[in-house]
Amino acid sequence: MLNDEMKKIMEDSRPDGWVLEPRAKKLLSLAGLKTPNHAWAKDEAQALKKAAKIGYPVVAKVVSPQVVHKSDVGGVAVGIEDDEQLKEACARFAAMDGYQGVLVEEMASGVEVIIGSKNDEQFGQVVLLGIGGTAVELYKDTVLRLAPIEPSQANQMIHELKGSRLLTGFRGSEAVNLEALAQTVSSFSKLVDELGEEVESIDLNPVMCTPDQCLIADARIMLAGQE
Ligand code: ADP
Ligand code: MG
Repeated sequence: MLNDEMKKIMEDSRPDGWVLEPRAKKLLSLAGLKTPNHAWAKDEAQALKKAAKIGYPVVAKVVSPQVVHKSDVGGVAVGIEDDEQLKEACARFAAMDGYQGVLVEEMASGVEVIIGSKNDEQFGQVVLLGIGGTAVELYKDTVLRLAPIEPSQANQMIHELKGSRLLTGFRGSEAVNLEALAQTVSSFSKLVDELGEEVESIDLNPVMCTPDQCLIADARIMLAGQE
């Protein structure tokens, strides 16, 4: 069941028609999913403070209800090395439509996968797992299942991917934590199932997988009933 904090996040997001990334990440952590260490800074001073806490290098992203696809408008700066670079990014973001602050985040790395969901009229909530993150369109390597998904079924999904060896170990590269990935897919599917028809689609892209863990580096939750 969704707890009160989760319901509040959904309510706060309704006027925007989608869930801003920092709120989406909060919702996902409440559902037991892992995100890189991050904070929603409301201004430059707060951003600098958060970056000092996280430690450079960091990623900065614009938070704005008007900016759904952040990199399309230059709203993501990765590999920020110091205060000067962070100030520069903050100034750029502050000039963007609907600016509501900056998400300051720890740099993550690993094998990139995408985990998504779509509310299908006929089938209900369909969950997708795919190889590729930003290059997902290139690989066209995805598998689908209906939510909810148990970890053992999620494990099968992983092995059905054509590029599964990228995850299970390839030419000396270590396998990612498959148990953590299966658990991530499963917990995500259960959250999606509980959110129900209020949610039109979710994109976790990229999810960064390492031998240790799976971190959700970006989350976009689109609400139903928007044109
Ligand atoms: P959007 O999809 O809205 O353009 P993302 O949050 O996905 O924005 O960021 C764009 C790209 O920046 C990602 O695809 C990823 O390659 C990189 N990125 C985002 N967050 C991180 C992070 N915490 N660590 C490392 N790279 C990141
Ligand atoms: Mg993204």
